[in-house]
Order: sequence, then C-alpha cells, then structure tokens
Amino acid sequence: MTTTCYDRIGELITNVPELGDGSVLGLRRDAAIVVDHGDGTTPDGTTVGEVVWVGDAGSAPDADERVDVAGRCVLPAFVDSHSHVVFGGDRAEEFAARMAGQPYAAGGIRTTVAATREADDQQLLARARSLVEEMRRQGTGTVEVKSGYGADVATEARSLWVARQVTEETTYLGAHVVGPEYADDPDGYVRLVTGEMLDACAPLARWIDVFVEDGAFDADQAREILAVGQARGLGARVHANQLGPGPGVQVAVELDAASADHCTHLSDGDVDALASSDTVATLVPGADFCTRSPVYPDGRRLLDAGATVALASDCNPGTSYTSSVPFVIALAVRECGLTPSEAVWAATAGGAASLRRTDVGHLGVGARADLTVLDAPSHLHLAYRPGVPLARPLTSTTAPGASASGF
Ligand SMILES: [Zn+2]
Repeated sequence: MTTTCYDRIGELITNVPELGDGSVLGLRRDAAIVVDHGDGTTPDGTTVGEVVWVGDAGSAPDADERVDVAGRCVLPAFVDSHSHVVFGGDRAEEFAARMAGQPYAAGGIRTTVAATREADDQQLLARARSLVEEMRRQGTGTVEVKSGYGADVATEARSLWVARQVTEETTYLGAHVVGPEYADDPDGYVRLVTGEMLDACAPLARWIDVFVEDGAFDADQAREILAVGQARGLGARVHANQLGPGPGVQVAVELDAASADHCTHLSDGDVDALASSDTVATLVPGADFCTRSPVYPDGRRLLDAGATVALASDCNPGTSYTSSVPFVIALAVRECGLTPSEAVWAATAGGAASLRRTDVGHLGVGARADLTVLDAPSHLHLAYRPGVPLARPLTSTTAPGASASGF
C-alpha cells in the first residue's frame, strides 16, 4: 500500500457539491487530495487505488509521497460511455469523399463488418489497445466498448473477448446492422441476435445495445432484443434518434435503459420522457461533426427540462474517429448549448451515471483514484482551448511510485 498526496492543486473538480463551492462541480481552489494506490487491478492491468482524503493545500495528512501539482486543474478522469474500438480496416477514403461533397454512402457499417471478420483476434486487440491507450493519454479513465462489427456469432463473440481485454464496460451490440447473410430475412437475424449470438456473447458483456433507426432495427425488434438481454442480466442501452425522429428514446425509457445515445432528433415528448426517467441522454457530437450533420443535439433543451446529460466520443471508424473527450467537450459547448462547466460534468459524472457507476466520475472519499490533470489553471480551458492537448492522466495508468513523472 502506497499513498500519494497531490498538493497545490489550483482548481480541484470533485463533482461532490459539499466538498467544494456547493455547485454540482464541487469546485475547490488551492486544494490537495490523497490517494491510496491499493492493490486492485483493472482488466487492462492498470493499478487502481482510491481517494482517501480531500481538503486544503498544505494541510493533508502524511502520505508516502507528495506530488506538487503547481497550480494546475485536477478533475475526475473522463468517463467515455460510448465507443466502438473493436474493428478492422478504416474508412478514411469514405470520410474524404463525404467531405468533398459526395453523399453519405449507406451501408458504410458493412464495409467495416467485412474488414472486422477478416481480422484475427490479435489484430483486433492491437487496434483496440492502441485506441484505449490514446484515450487514456487524453485523460479518459473509464471506457465503454461495444461489439457490433461482426454481425455473426463468431465475430461478435471475438469482438467482446477483445473488448474484455481493455475494459470491464463491454456492450453486446449484435443489433448494430443486419448481417449481410440476412439481408432478405431481418426477422431471422433478430432470432440469431436473441438466440445463438446472445448465448455466445452474454457471458462477455455487461450491457446490450440496439441501433434503433430506419434501415437498422425498429421499436418492436428493439424491445424484443433488449428484453431478452435484460432477462440474461445485461443492462440496456440504445442508439436512439441519431439520423431522424424515431422511437429509440421512448423504447429506452420504457425499458429503463441506462442510456439513450445520440439524441440528435428529439420531440418534446422524448425530452419529457428522458427528464422524468433514470435514462441518461448521452450526446456524441463528434459523430454529428464527422458526418457534417446539419443539426447537433440540443443539450440546452435537455438540461433545461431536467434530463441528465452525458458526453462520449462514439469513437468508431465510420462516423466519429476521435478518441478525444476534450474535443467532444469543446463541440458540446460550441454546438449543443452546454456551458463549459456543464460539459465537464457531463463528460465525467454524466458518463458515470450512464454506466450506472458510483465509483468513477467524482473525487469524493472512496472514489476510484482516476485523476486527470490539465496543463491549465481551470476546467474552463477544456472548451476555451479546443484541439490543445491539455489533459493527461495523473494517476489512472501509473503504478505506485511512478505517479510523479511528468512534473
Ligand atoms: Zn455508436
């Protein structure tokens, strides 16, 4: 057991109101925080400790080592609750063509399905590991990873095995796109997703997700798939209302899904449903940016109605090939109507709520010791300085005794 005191923090975001200024960010100036590195490990082998003390700079109890943060801002590591980092190939040419004015080619997901089926386990794992490492270097501590580019039993199960190597937050998304073999028999594909594929995937997953959209899965199919998954102990998530109005949000709320993701096209009824439920609205404006969507999700409307909002990268090769939560924060402020403080809360505590986690997304005593430091005096700089690599891990990927590196 090793303890470290991170001292002389210029601005500490705890997300615990009573630990700070009473705001939802629980902001505290001239602070210190003590972490016990413990001996727990995550599936990717990083050491996890916990927060054991929060208070004023210079007044912390004795610790085995002390790190001078020199006035920087420290906040909970980002919780990126929506990613698709298990895939083969890339779609750079398709992106370039789209930016050159060619229409978005439907069936892009199928390009990645073919490349993912061709890739072997080690190729898929190498790609997923490198993207998760890229996320961690930019201040993300918890990552959710979905399957969904297999669309057959073997590749969906392999994808979840890979996901399991990099995170405990794994999501079975067999219902991402109808497998090419079932193009003329979508109901047959739903039977596969709720039968043999679920049998192979459920032991490797914490969540089940469905892409509810014209051309993907409709409300009845989604209800059936999610209910069967829930009966196996999986929590529900939904890709909802991304490309147009639709039933995704209503299905998510009806089934008590932890999260309805995208939420770009919402009716008043959808907003009310989210606001009066425990289903988090997870916005992924990186996807709207990368597809040059004419509309962004209206985060302001959701917050004003009382909904809980999260932000995530949606890192995937087709429509949002970014691993950067700080970029997403900047977009959410510029395009979704969130204030910089609301965006930081959504990318930390909001992400944790969407994964129904109480140990991450805040820095109260007992929280997981995933701390992110900014080369800046304030969290406002995340949105104020878009594209600048300010965020990096303070603790989440470091072994005890190595946490002072970088200063
Ligand atoms: Zn997605």
